[in-house]
Formats: sequence, C-alpha cells, structure tokens
Amino acid sequence: MVELEDLPSVGEKTAEKLRDAGFADMMRLATATPKELSVKAEIGEGVAEKVIEAARKAEDIGFETALEVDERRKDVGHISVGSKGFNDLIAGGIETQAITEVFGEFGSGKSQISHELAVTVQLPEELGGLDGDCVFVDTENTFRPERIKQIANGFELDLEDVLQRIHVARAFNSSHQILMVDKINELIQNGTNVKLVIVDSLMAHFRAEYVGRESLAVRQQKLNQHLHSLQQIANTYNVAVFITNQVQAKPDSFFGSPTKAIGGHVLGHASTYRIWLKKGLAGKRIARLVDSPHLPEGECVFKITNEGIVD
Ligand code: ADP
Repeated sequence: MVELEDLPSVGEKTAEKLRDAGFADMMRLATATPKELSVKAEIGEGVAEKVIEAARKAEDIGFETALEVDERRKDVGHISVGSKGFNDLIAGGIETQAITEVFGEFGSGKSQISHELAVTVQLPEELGGLDGDCVFVDTENTFRPERIKQIANGFELDLEDVLQRIHVARAFNSSHQILMVDKINELIQNGTNVKLVIVDSLMAHFRAEYVGRESLAVRQQKLNQHLHSLQQIANTYNVAVFITNQVQAKPDSFFGSPTKAIGGHVLGHASTYRIWLKKGLAGKRIARLVDSPHLPEGECVFKITNEGIVD
C-alpha cells in the first residue's frame, strides 16, 4: 500500500496535516479537489494540486475500459427494503456506489424506509443485507430507537447489537450537515464497516436557511458540494447512500402530478435512483421509480407495519 509519505512533495509535516484533515488514504486524496484539500488541510493550493495528482497516479486513475467498469460494478451490493415488490422494482434493493433518493409528501413513508434500511443493512448477504453498519444523519429529529427495536424484533435480531451498529448524527443546520460527511470519512478510515449512509431529510435545513430567490444560487452550490462528498463516500468505500426529500405543491399543474421534488437540477442529477412515494388506499403506499440509469420505470405497492416495510 502506498503511504502518504511515499508521495513526491509530501514531507512528514504535510502528511500529518493531511491525516488530521481526514485524508489518510490514497483514494480519498485522489478524489478531492485542490480547493477542498487546501482549505481542509491548510496547505497551499499549488501543493494540494501536486499531492492530488500524485495520489491519482498512485491509484492509477485515468481511463477505465468498459470491462473494468463492469468489474467494479460486480462489487455493487444491495440492501433489502423489506418488501419483495419494492426490491424487485429496484433490482434487488438499494445499491452501493449510488445515491438513492425517495421523495414524497408528509407521512408517505420516507422515514419508515430509512429505519428499515438501518436494520436490514446489518443482515447477512443471503438475507438481504451487507453485514455492515449504518450512519443515520438526522436533520429533523425523526430517528427513533424504539422503531428500530420493533423492526429488529421482526428479524429476530439482538436489539442491543443492532442499536450499537447505527451511528446517529444529529445535524443542527446545513453547515453542520455538510461537516458530518467528513466525520463519516473518519469513521470509515478508523475501521467501522459502514455500508449505508442515510440522510433524513436532505433538504430540510437548506430549505429553511436559504429563503428567497437571491439566495438560491448559494444554496444550490452548497447542496452540490454536499452531494458530491456523499457520492465520493459511496464510490470510495462501496457504500449505499439513501436520502429522503420533500415535495413542493405545483398549484399550476392541471395534468400530471400536483407535487414535485425540491432541490432542483442539482439534486435531480446527483441522485442515481429517484423514487416517488405516494399514500394509497387503506394505509397502503405506492413507490414509483421515476429515474434510473438502467431500470425501467415502474410501480409497486407496499405497507408499513409494526415490524417494518412489507408487501
Ligand atoms: P415521512 O414520509 O413524513 O417521513 P414517515 O416515514 O414518518 O413519513 O411515515 C409515517 C407513517 O408511517 C405514519 O403515518 C404511519 O402510518 C406509519 N407508521 C409509523 N409507525 C408505524 C408502526 N409502528 N406501525 C405501522 N405504521 C406505522
């Protein structure tokens, strides 16, 4: 393995700064931007550029053949959502190396699915999990250990063990939320086997803090940066990222859906999979896959029960 000190232009002091700033491995360095690295590690931008270049060389990052991409995709893991119909809709569960977004109105089941995934990710592969830990970034104080226990009971899992493997991060504002992602990097680099990162809800703070047209550009820029670091975690460590999003009423819509996801194009482009959740009759919920790079659009019906998500 290449160590930081092996890179040209990295002395002992720079290596220490890089480690302190959470850039301990080559892949993390190789996927950083010079600006980010220079700010976080407090080194000059010129040096940052050189270090990144060297890390990219060490990691052999350049063109990839389609065969190599295919190889890398073989590492993609899936986490069960609990319902067979839902899993079938997204080809086996939510994917690692990708961002999956669910959006829907209040009470449509976004937080419930988040809680379900926080448990199922811990299951062994043959039962639909990845035998991994979960990071739950909670922005609206919706995380409930009681709910986790109910769901874990349904799988006959050891409750204390399940709770131990969910790392809850309460984010108090959007800057805090952005910083949390660095902490996730640290957690993983320190040896925690994180396989799922949940952000519930992604937009709440951004929406509340940046009000009015004039602040929209800044909001979108911050959001973009945030999504970029989430995607980086997904790719670097083969992690699944699951984000929940709110909807906005479209009062002018006569045909089609009266609601749409917030977050604009920045979010629309960053999410690999977008799923729209709707309330159906008799407590049923409908999930509609509206965007995916390789799966057809489709729908499924699921239910929320005491033991979690079921068909
Ligand atoms: P949101 O989309 O706003 O995040 P939630 O995921 O919190 O919505 O879904 C809330 C809904 O989940 C409630 O309206 C209720 O119908 C259902 N629900 C919550 N807990 C349970 C439970 N223990 N058993 C059955 N249904 C539940």
